[in-house]
Amino acid sequence: MRKILVVGAGQSGLQLALGLQSKGYDVTLMSNRTADEIRTGRVMSTQVMFDTALQHERDLQLAFWERQTPRIEGVGVSVAAPEGGRAVDWLGRLKGFAQSVDQRVKMAGWMDTFVQWGGQLVIHGASVADLDFFSRTYDLVLVAAGKGELVSMFARDAARSPYDAPQRALAVSYVHGLGPRPEHPDTEAVRCNLVPGVGELFVMPTLTTSGRADILFWEGLPGGPVDVFKGVKDPADHLALTLELMEKFTPWEYARATKVDLTDGGATLAGRYAPVVREPIGRLPGGGLVLGVADVVVANDPITGQGSNSAAKCAASYLSSILMHGDKPFDEAWMKATFDKYWFTTGKPVTQWTNAMLGVPPEHVLNLIGAAGQLPPVADRFANGFDNPADFDGYFYDPEDTADYLAEVSASVSPSGPDPE
Ligand SMILES: Cc1cc2nc3c(=O)[nH]c(=O)nc-3n(C[C@H](O)[C@H](O)[C@H](O)COP(=O)(O)OP(=O)(O)OC[C@H]3O[C@@H](n4cnc5c(N)ncnc54)[C@H](O)[C@@H]3O)c2cc1C
Repeated sequence: MRKILVVGAGQSGLQLALGLQSKGYDVTLMSNRTADEIRTGRVMSTQVMFDTALQHERDLQLAFWERQTPRIEGVGVSVAAPEGGRAVDWLGRLKGFAQSVDQRVKMAGWMDTFVQWGGQLVIHGASVADLDFFSRTYDLVLVAAGKGELVSMFARDAARSPYDAPQRALAVSYVHGLGPRPEHPDTEAVRCNLVPGVGELFVMPTLTTSGRADILFWEGLPGGPVDVFKGVKDPADHLALTLELMEKFTPWEYARATKVDLTDGGATLAGRYAPVVREPIGRLPGGGLVLGVADVVVANDPITGQGSNSAAKCAASYLSSILMHGDKPFDEAWMKATFDKYWFTTGKPVTQWTNAMLGVPPEHVLNLIGAAGQLPPVADRFANGFDNPADFDGYFYDPEDTADYLAEVSASVSPSGPDPE
């Protein structure tokens, strides 16, 4: 039986460990925290996952919380107008629903499942020296330790990493008591509120440790008016600041947030990180090789809500590469090919789109976002791009492609357009 070590019990590490376990591999999972520490700790993400990523979990019978978790049927975009109010406000419909299961719930639950299914769980923060030793005793070592210190083993790929500093300051609050959105009270959605020159406020439902909740997530431009959470220690102060900024910049969201409370003592998170792509293979002092997974090798800013989706897609892609490799050695060529398959199908399109969304939007993108308010097919296509970011290639990056696409949709929806068949 092939022996595989997975380091890191997040979305990618656990999905891979459980997937390999179900295929009969001898899997050891190393986590620097116990399931209880994760469950009772601080929130880590907003973790909205779209249909393709959720399907990977369903395929492994791991969608344990699907029934209790709010079904996100749409992605809404609002743009704050300079004189107040909203210049743009629309909702695109998703073909398949999205969901957010608090990672504290999911990772703790999956860790317990891994142990119940007979997996070997080691609670230990792995060091490079540990990996040096283990690379000799395992057929394959997968490093799925997120943005932790082990990334220092993987060189930054400068050609694929246009930013060398964080592009947003992040501030998350999980709350109970948020009112419905009056424009679509019966449709759960991720709402992206874009405030030019300031940042973005994302609002979305989730399933947390205390049941259904909503997340208020500010992404502030560094040095701007929303970049004010550093050093705020008290969760109550963090929420008060979040609401104050909502009242000032997104009053339509604040209007439904006047009665909110934090879900628990670990319901807030603030931080920032630079988006980065790394070399996928880590070289150990003793000559052994390890393969990086998900955020270790491709970490994007959460502005497009792609990291957990990409982690699920990376785990599914690596799982299939491992299964297809049979009993052959997991050598450098296999590691490179395994990463390349993930990079070209998922990592690259996600990175291209996310990095584009971090910049100042060019005129053709502003036109596109504005036009989606009048053209529902455009809103729907944009919303479904969160599930399949490769689709943006067809109409988003090039001004001519955008103009052609908008002309085509306008013709098809206007009364003077072609007759319906
Ligand atoms: C504020 C915020 C909002 C986000 N919102 C979304 C969203 O809406 N949708 C989305 O798709 N993505 C989102 N993301 C991104 C997403 O959370 C991550 O990309 C995703 O969790 C990455 O999964 P992973 O498996 O690579 O790593 P992680 O989930 O980070 O897991 C890594 C695990 O390894 C453990 N670890 C670290 N070092 C060691 C060590 N030395 N030894 C053992 N264990 C170790 C860590 O404790 C952790 O449990 C968001 C991120 C942030 C910060």
